[in-house]
Amino acid sequence: MREKWLERFSESLDCLKSARRQQTIVPVLDLEIGGGEFVTMAGPCSVETEFQLMATANHVRRAGARILRGGAFKPRSSPYAFQGLEGLKMLARARQESGLAIVTEVMSEEDIPMVAEYADILQIGTRNMENYTLLEAAAKSGRPVLLKRGMVATIAEWLRSAQLILDSGNPNVILCERGIRTFETAMRNTFDASAIALLKQVSHLPVIADPSHAAGHSDMVPALARIAVAAGADGIIVEVHPNPAKAWSDGEQSLDFAAFDEMMTDLEPYLAMRNSGGASRRKTAQVRSLVAVG
Ligand code: PEP
Ligand code: MN
Repeated sequence: MREKWLERFSESLDCLKSARRQQTIVPVLDLEIGGGEFVTMAGPCSVETEFQLMATANHVRRAGARILRGGAFKPRSSPYAFQGLEGLKMLARARQESGLAIVTEVMSEEDIPMVAEYADILQIGTRNMENYTLLEAAAKSGRPVLLKRGMVATIAEWLRSAQLILDSGNPNVILCERGIRTFETAMRNTFDASAIALLKQVSHLPVIADPSHAAGHSDMVPALARIAVAAGADGIIVEVHPNPAKAWSDGEQSLDFAAFDEMMTDLEPYLAMRNSGGASRRKTAQVRSLVAVG
């Protein structure tokens, strides 16, 4: 079994589990991504205003998020429609006020030093997964890199991009499944939960899920988040907005505060079940090794 995956993903060997490396833990402020604790990243699609960002940061922190997301540079529209450096400064203020770490997208090589100054994690968007010069420059910033899966990328291609970051001297890569494009159009993308399950078996890199971009509809987001927990994801990244109807981007898939609270509460029993499953597996392993010793 292991041989089969080694062969299939042979171009990204360092991303794969080995006797030497079972799990990469990415340190972010006082957090450890991939260290067993389920980490929630939440915030608006786009950084809009000081009020929007601060209200969201304070709210999601109280509900249990540990990292604030928010795009200061966005891939789809005119760059002038978004906040750029002003947005980064707002993120920095939100970080200071809330204590949350910051993840934000970087779209061009030239912006990397500036974004790395303000962000704790650099996000590479789906449209840039194979932009190798951008990946290399992001890797060299020294910041952890959240690598979204290209919307038409195979798992092997995704791992090859992760490998390029590792090869550039940065071990702190977080893989993010955000849905892929298939023939299905009911939702914005098709959430590939099996990719999460597979990567948790074969790769030592932390894997998180983005149920917001996968679903495209806010009412589907909590269900996909539950699936992510069951598939073994190390965390989720979710879009939250104080008033989704007025959001500058991705309002349809953004949770309002009440829906975010409900999702977080509803995830608890699933996380508890997962943790107790892990504990009982560990117990079984201990019993087995005692038996072996005895
Ligand atoms: C985003 O996180 O807002 C975003 C643009 O994501 P993706 O690159 O997955 O579309
Ligand atoms: Mn978005």
